[in-house]
Amino acid sequence: MAKSGPTKTAGKSEPAKTAARAVTAKPGSDRAVLAMPKLEHWHFEIDVEKIGWLSIDTSGASVNVLGTGAIVELEKLVTRFEDLAASGDLAGVALLSKKNSGFIAGADIAEFSDLADPAVMRPALVKAHALFDRIENLAVPFVCGIHGFCLGGGLELALACHYRVAVNDEKTRIGFPEIKLGIFPGFGGTGRSMNLAGPVPAMQIMLTGKYLRAGAARGMNLVDRLVRHRDMLRWELRKAIIQKRKSKPAGFTKKVMAMGPLRSYVASKMRDTVKKKARKEHYPAPYSLIDMFEEKGNDPVAMRKGEIDRFPPLMATDTAFNLRRLFFLSEGLKKQGVRKGKKPVFVRVHVIGAGVMGGDIAAWCAMRGMGVTLQDLDQERIAPALKRAKSLFRKRLKKPQAVNSALARLEADVEGKGMARADVIIEAVVENLEIKQKIFADVEAKAKPEAVIATNTSSIELEKIAKNLKDPSRLIGLHFFNPVAQMPLVEVVRSKVNSDLAVQMGCSFATAIGKSPVVVRSAPGFLVNRVLMPYLLAAVKRVEAGQSKELLDEAALAFGMPMGPIELMDVVGLDVGASVARELGHPVEEGTEFARLISQGHLGRKSGRGFYLWTKGKAQKGTPPSFSGSLAGLGRELVQPLVDECERCVKEGIVASADLADIGVILGTGFAPFLGGPLNARKNDKA
Ligand code: NAD
Repeated sequence: MAKSGPTKTAGKSEPAKTAARAVTAKPGSDRAVLAMPKLEHWHFEIDVEKIGWLSIDTSGASVNVLGTGAIVELEKLVTRFEDLAASGDLAGVALLSKKNSGFIAGADIAEFSDLADPAVMRPALVKAHALFDRIENLAVPFVCGIHGFCLGGGLELALACHYRVAVNDEKTRIGFPEIKLGIFPGFGGTGRSMNLAGPVPAMQIMLTGKYLRAGAARGMNLVDRLVRHRDMLRWELRKAIIQKRKSKPAGFTKKVMAMGPLRSYVASKMRDTVKKKARKEHYPAPYSLIDMFEEKGNDPVAMRKGEIDRFPPLMATDTAFNLRRLFFLSEGLKKQGVRKGKKPVFVRVHVIGAGVMGGDIAAWCAMRGMGVTLQDLDQERIAPALKRAKSLFRKRLKKPQAVNSALARLEADVEGKGMARADVIIEAVVENLEIKQKIFADVEAKAKPEAVIATNTSSIELEKIAKNLKDPSRLIGLHFFNPVAQMPLVEVVRSKVNSDLAVQMGCSFATAIGKSPVVVRSAPGFLVNRVLMPYLLAAVKRVEAGQSKELLDEAALAFGMPMGPIELMDVVGLDVGASVARELGHPVEEGTEFARLISQGHLGRKSGRGFYLWTKGKAQKGTPPSFSGSLAGLGRELVQPLVDECERCVKEGIVASADLADIGVILGTGFAPFLGGPLNARKNDKA
């Protein structure tokens, strides 16, 4: 690779001469092309004003990533820029992306596993740091223009630039998602973001992994200027170079919280916040970042350098490995939709049943930009769903204009007029076979021939619902989870009779509304309810046998579950739990505490009392008794029925693979992501 560097390919050993040749390569042209072949991922040209236009265009990918190949080429380019700047042939460099999808989505995660060995990672980091430092120290302005995604390593490169301009539209997203992969920024992003935004605001975005819109990034000083359109970036970057603009670091008031003894206090507050979401033994990265902040948070350069020691061991943890695996499994889910022919477009959705599920599914689809008609027996039954939709839009969309547009997209439709023009029809009425059969007879008569027709049933076999249809192969299940706005999973249910295309269309639709589809076979409980119920029921049995519910819940948390099984049963609702258990062949036995609570109307959180008392939406828990064994070990025992059931689901073909079972159960139940899923965790146990 080194041999194909710019100096050699230009055919001259002396850089200034090469540059002179490049600049005069096309007399009269304002885009003299620098002779620099074999750049796979970048494009570079110098114009008559000596502005170097550098654009990234990762070869063979729809989004730009900073992989090893791109970094090696960038090193060569930077050497060239240094030479050109020294000879006065370069006024500055403007970095842009050639791809419509955005600026740079991050480092290339596909390479991470090869870099996981600290002996490999450390020197790679040292090299990347040296490269980004050279960009920062370039004698001429190095500026960049951002549209779409600017994340992780992409943001770190942008922060090494002297000045950043971003497009202020809905698509721009700026952030550090590293924490979700079990690491933190490692290309100097910690110190550079702290220098610009101030240590505490920068720590907040690194610790949460939240993406910022352009306006918020500007507000934090991570971006210097906003433009309305992508085509205004070049002009703004040109001005920035000519005027030698440079962003200013955060002022004193932004830095004060990281000074002296205050820093330790702030660090301990950060630890308290992180502790509520993630345990150190499960997710070490945020704790390591906070420790580094406590040590060096007043010195951005020291923070940056500290990455070289702290990043490699994190990259080598099982947590990071498993979180990367989940990232790829989630990405794989998006590829399950219709692959051949024209990509399906979903513009209109019709939902039948405006109850808990139908109302929220309709609201979700409208929020995601679709035109939605919502049908129920009368207007009064639709009104509460519209009210809930309004509060969802306000919470998520915030801007009044966006809220009003979403409200305008969601229409009450008692007569079902929207059915005939809908691209997707979802039935979510009461769980009653006859009613559902009647509804689908009507749906089949009115729907467009290519429309997706789906039921949200939790327990009725699809074959039975489709029995009287002229074309039963059209009906699929789209099993959403409650609460719809928070649960990322949709089980796309395949019956014995439906077509592959219908299932693929279901996957495409789920992806189009930002949910993750997992294809499951039509069988009681599908995947998630089927594996969850034996786990919850076994825990309830332990409580009935005298074990402390607080202890069991605490043990499940120590293992890595997001909520203990007894608390979860209260949240699901004891009546709902009992009904799902019955469908799965485990009816609640008479005379048990479980049966007694239900008969007394103590249904869990919704009634204020279940296994726990609930006040203001919180379970009132006592102190668990002392326990001499390993809490996490007890938690492991508790989840065993879930793991066993998962294995049976794979064997019976409820899901096509163990990988799909893992990602489905994580998305549907929150099962310890750092373990990579129930079957992955079992594999590791055996290892
Ligand atoms: P729900 O009782 O809250 O709502 C059902 C709605 O359907 C009611 O508003 C009712 O008026 C309406 N309805 C009844 N007959 C109708 C008809 N002929 N035409 C139009 N509307 C009619 O029920 P839900 O909890 O929203 O459940 C709906 C479906 O979703 C069920 O099949 C259920 O198994 C499934 N599901 C429920 C959950 C859950 O947690 N509640 C989760 C996943 C799936």
